[in-house]
Amino acid sequence: MSFTNLGLNESLLKAIKDQGYTTPTPIQKQAIPVVIEGKDVLAAAQTGTGKTAGFTLPLLERLSETHPKMGKKQIRVLVLTPTRELAAQVAESIKTYGKYMKYSSTVIYGGVGIYPQLATIKKGVDIVIATPGRLLDIASQQGIDFSAVETLVLDEADRMLDMGFIHDIKKLMKMMPKQRQTLLFSATFSKEIKQLASGLLRDPVLIEVARENTTAEQVSQVVHFVDKSRKRELLSQLIKTKDWRQVLVFTRTKHGANKLTKQLEEAGISAAAIHGNKSQGARTKALASFKANEIRVLVATDIAARGIDIDQLPHVVNYELPNVPEDYVHRIGRTGRAGQSGEAVSLVCVDEHKLLFDIEKFIKSEIKKVHIEAFTPDPNIKAEPIQNGRGGGQKRGGGSRNASKPGSGNSRNRNRSNNKNNSSNKSDSSSENKKTEGQKPQSRKEKSNSQASQIGSRIQEKLDKLDKRDAKIENKNSKNNTRRR
Ligand code: AMP
Repeated sequence: MSFTNLGLNESLLKAIKDQGYTTPTPIQKQAIPVVIEGKDVLAAAQTGTGKTAGFTLPLLERLSETHPKMGKKQIRVLVLTPTRELAAQVAESIKTYGKYMKYSSTVIYGGVGIYPQLATIKKGVDIVIATPGRLLDIASQQGIDFSAVETLVLDEADRMLDMGFIHDIKKLMKMMPKQRQTLLFSATFSKEIKQLASGLLRDPVLIEVARENTTAEQVSQVVHFVDKSRKRELLSQLIKTKDWRQVLVFTRTKHGANKLTKQLEEAGISAAAIHGNKSQGARTKALASFKANEIRVLVATDIAARGIDIDQLPHVVNYELPNVPEDYVHRIGRTGRAGQSGEAVSLVCVDEHKLLFDIEKFIKSEIKKVHIEAFTPDPNIKAEPIQNGRGGGQKRGGGSRNASKPGSGNSRNRNRSNNKNNSSNKSDSSSENKKTEGQKPQSRKEKSNSQASQIGSRIQEKLDKLDKRDAKIENKNSKNNTRRR
């Protein structure tokens, strides 16, 4: 099957050809015709399946088929995404596929100045791609006319729920016209997603292109058991001996990401970190350098990495396993995208055996273990609670045991701890918003209006304190380990 049978116009076909795509991916085959028909869609698609084109292409087609009201341009398509990176990526896709059409689009997210965004909205724009927090800020303070929205897309809806955006989404939904098309994309069809979908979608077409909770099939996965204190050494060795040129490395915390970046740099391996404490400018710059092969290693936390799309990214390393098994699937989904093969390596220390067990249970398969002689773990080192995680640490958020049981009653704990975890990111942008919006002091009324942001900032402050405490504990632990060895 080729793209020509899917009902797309010549301009879109030309743009697709420019991209070098010859065959639509399974999600594209299924989603494009029904979206063009105007139906609501509930789609479970793994990351890297080509889902972005699966909704942007037919939306552009629909825009060309329906006619806007006369007068100033109004928002006709609204796409909500959990992170700024994903918003930017969707916007990029719209620009790429719509390059022979004349629709205007803009991105709205926190961490950058609000005034240019307001100005663009006021001027009039056809397509808005936004993260819920900033969009709600603008909508509640300045007012946005959503009455002309024909199609609403919730991309990576599962992540938006995990990140605690549900209330923002509900508030935004009240502002949307009742008569509209709604598309909901999610990596998994959890109970929570089904619940959200039932309130938003009307008689949706269900599309599921991959089995629930499966990992990208083209990705070869391997685990190396190694002592925590020797992970950095092993990572440097793998990068150097295997001559990895472009590696995305995941750590659990922002502090861990910074520390590892510094250590890699010291070992002569170019690296940069991206996480919620970095300004949007720094994140964009780091990602651009990584994409351009100017730096070899990008060290990222889970939330920051969400939405990163790098063609043919060959290596992903789990320097630390995630507390939540779903995050493993998202992490390794960064490689092996759209039919390319990739490699995901996990460095697992004794503290993380339970997390590994939970991941294997979640993905319903055992990950290959490869023993590296020179890094045989010291059997005298005993497992210790994971101190430096958010939500999975046994001292916070109910413990990793509870945190990692999908589908059980404990998933509530998981979500709660996740919210805690992710509100840090949400508040990252809130605090960053404050910095950038700080040019104009907020009135008292505005302050009380943005109560949510304040709560977010307070959580952020607490998390920052915990991060510092974690750093101290981590230092102490590594000293103890060295002494024991
Ligand atoms: P996504 O799942 O939307 O993040 O897309 C993953 C990657 O697949 C992106 O880099 C797209 O450029 C690429 N892609 C999307 N559709 C196709 C296609 N039909 N053929 C080849 N690559 C594609």
